[in-house]
Amino acid sequence: MADQIRILLVDDDEDDFVITRDIIQDIPGRHYHLDWTASFPEALGLIRKRKHDVYLVDFFLGAHDGLELITQAVAEGTTAPFILLTGQTDRETDEKAMRAGALDYLVKGTFNPYDLERSIRYSIEHAKSLCEIQTLNAQLEQRVEERTQELAEAIQKLEQTNRILYEAQLDIEKALQKEKELNELKSRFVTTASHEFRTPLSTVLSSASIISRYKTTEEDDKRLKHVERIKSAVQNLTVILNDFLSMSRIEEGKVYNIPSRFNLVGFTKEVVEDMQALVKEGQRIKFQHRGSEEFVQLDKQLLKNILINLLSNASKYSAEGKTIHLTTAITPGSVAITVQDEGIGIPTPDHTHLFTPFFRAQNATNIQGTGLGLNIVKRYVEVMEGALTFTSALDQGTTFHLSFPQPA
Ligand code: ATP
Ligand code: MG
Repeated sequence: MADQIRILLVDDDEDDFVITRDIIQDIPGRHYHLDWTASFPEALGLIRKRKHDVYLVDFFLGAHDGLELITQAVAEGTTAPFILLTGQTDRETDEKAMRAGALDYLVKGTFNPYDLERSIRYSIEHAKSLCEIQTLNAQLEQRVEERTQELAEAIQKLEQTNRILYEAQLDIEKALQKEKELNELKSRFVTTASHEFRTPLSTVLSSASIISRYKTTEEDDKRLKHVERIKSAVQNLTVILNDFLSMSRIEEGKVYNIPSRFNLVGFTKEVVEDMQALVKEGQRIKFQHRGSEEFVQLDKQLLKNILINLLSNASKYSAEGKTIHLTTAITPGSVAITVQDEGIGIPTPDHTHLFTPFFRAQNATNIQGTGLGLNIVKRYVEVMEGALTFTSALDQGTTFHLSFPQPA
């Protein structure tokens, strides 16, 4: 029957069961189905099956008591209501019953069918409301959880946007800084260029006007001397101009590494031969190659520029008659090149600035130069994915070490 109410009575006294059954039978109107158990464990087992609409539980249950049963059943998630039946009427038992989870409390022998009917009805309604409240509560918690999750996601997105913006700002700052540096470099270019060009240009001018004064054939020697001076001044100008051009090509990112396979020994000998003609009086470039392998895979043009720069420095910053040692060595996976001189050396405090554009060491101020050569060398080596280091001792000499990776 649909509106039948199933009751489980837990009572260890059969007389009480009979009394309760009779009272239930006397309730008018509704249909009740009564199950009865006297044992605590059996009661628990039946409660777990959840087949009853209401439980009537005796306070005294042998070794256990009704409060214990209610407490355990509620802890296991039973939602149907408990009504505690007890022999005594006092506030303390009532409160204990409430705390354990009983919804009502009836004193044996004092309630009639109407009281019981009312208690059962109220308890069932009350339990239903409680259940609904719990469901609502759970839904609310779920909603709060979802909102919290959404908020956390929104915060995360915001943080990400923030990070992207910050990085963009950094990029802009970097670009601005680069632009500023480029501008400074350009103005230094102009200053240095006008300064460096003045000396050779005035040489050209004075020698040219002197030549025009020599008219006789006897003066051929003197004329020739000035022609040589003009030639050397123009050569000087060409070198400086080339350096400037190299610098701007590097700045524009137009220097590329184009490796090819060639004989390093033959190539180096040619460079040495060219350079030998340009060194000071009595200076000699001694070349030595170590190992049996002679072929390498490198950018020839860049390497030639690097060697010319390092060799001309070695000559320029050494006295007449000194020796310049050039060595090459090929090992599996790498090429090593050193340029060693017996020159003036580099003062230790200047070591850290050596590769900065336009930088010139304290002991080189009265030797002509723009301070661009080593910066160019360094940038070429970087383009070639190589490494450049040096060691130097004042008034004893300097050694530059180059190394480049080689395909296995
Ligand atoms: P240039 O641009 O014409 O080459 P530079 O020789 O002055 O001018 P770098 O070649 O860049 O410029 O060298 C920078 C500085 O490093 C030089 O001014 C010099 O002080 C120092 N230096 C470079 N090579 C040597 C060396 N072999 N011995 C001593 N000092 C050196
Ligand atoms: Mg130089």
